[in-house]
Amino acid sequence: MTTFIPLDNFRAWLLRYADRIDECADYLTELDAAIGDADHGLNMQRGLVKVRSRLLDEPEQEESSGLSMLGGGRLSVTSDTGALLHSVAMTLINSVGGAAGPLYGSFFLRFSKAYSGEVQLAEFAVMFRNGVEGVRQRGKARLNDKTMLDALLPAANALDAAAEAQDTLEAALEAMLEAARVGMENTVALEARKGRASYLGPRSVGHKDPGAASAFYLVETAAETLGRNR
Ligand code: ADP
Ligand code: MG
Repeated sequence: MTTFIPLDNFRAWLLRYADRIDECADYLTELDAAIGDADHGLNMQRGLVKVRSRLLDEPEQEESSGLSMLGGGRLSVTSDTGALLHSVAMTLINSVGGAAGPLYGSFFLRFSKAYSGEVQLAEFAVMFRNGVEGVRQRGKARLNDKTMLDALLPAANALDAAAEAQDTLEAALEAMLEAARVGMENTVALEARKGRASYLGPRSVGHKDPGAASAFYLVETAAETLGRNR
């Protein structure tokens, strides 16, 4: 049983997320085509490709401004979780674009800011809650506005409840995953009140929110990687 989350697991999470976004980019773009402007998969892919090459220290065509957060240090060998996550945030802000870029950037900025050394379940719950709060403050959306928050907020609530009950990390990740899945599925029936989809009004009903789907993948890949013993 894992009690704390080592740096390698955070790295594995982000690499798995980059892979999942690659696999699902067309699907995300399809969702966005129905109620937005058909770019969500492409936006996310653009950012996560950069995150992946940063984490693997692959040479890049063009450096974007936020990537020197570690003073040009190599993310593949850094031992500082907070710095790694902060650099990921800056990469997303600089490269995702659309509404989603600053929102995911805010998530990781606040998530990394709440980092304080060894991450056990209780600390992870605080980090995740802070990340979600960053998205909420940045986008001013509420629960049931048909946005990524509809997957992220229930996930944060499930994590808090699990931490409160002193559940195992594995059980907490499972609960977080199921909460995010239900939240994402619930967006189908909702009318959008934020973002581009809100321009459609009632015509947005009957479609899954693309940002809720990409946020679900963020949670799903966390559940797949963070509890692993490496
Ligand atoms: P854009 O809408 O600029 O084309 P994307 O297509 O990349 O950007 O992202 C759209 C997603 O962003 C939506 O599906 C929704 O989940 C999320 N989103 C948009 N506006 C907000 C907001 N104000 N708060 C939270 N999430 C939002
Ligand atoms: Mg879009």
